[in-house]
Amino acid sequence: MTKYPKPPRVGEQTFTERQECPVCFRPAKKKTTQIFSNDPYDGNMLLIRSVDQWASNPGLKNNYLNNDDPVYWRRYEHILWDGETYVQKYGHFCSQPCAVWYANTVVKY
Ligand SMILES: [Zn+2]
Repeated sequence: MTKYPKPPRVGEQTFTERQECPVCFRPAKKKTTQIFSNDPYDGNMLLIRSVDQWASNPGLKNNYLNNDDPVYWRRYEHILWDGETYVQKYGHFCSQPCAVWYANTVVKY
């Protein structure tokens, strides 16, 4: 049986300028990170979004003390951005369809 080499994996690529997908012209997204914290954010990254949520306490086997009081604690989900990094999920392309369309066009000519 013929052994073929594994196709290379195309991962995400980051840019410091907001470049567009060359096929559909969708601009690259901001490369954000998500952190969970008990406090409002006060760091030096840009805060894109902050979602306030109530979570159950994972340290307890069940979430009940005294059988009927659920133990919840407040936490925040912070979406942070460094202010300069953008990302395209598939190399220079926003999506697999765009990359495949481009590749097929290149092969044809
Ligand atoms: Zn695209």
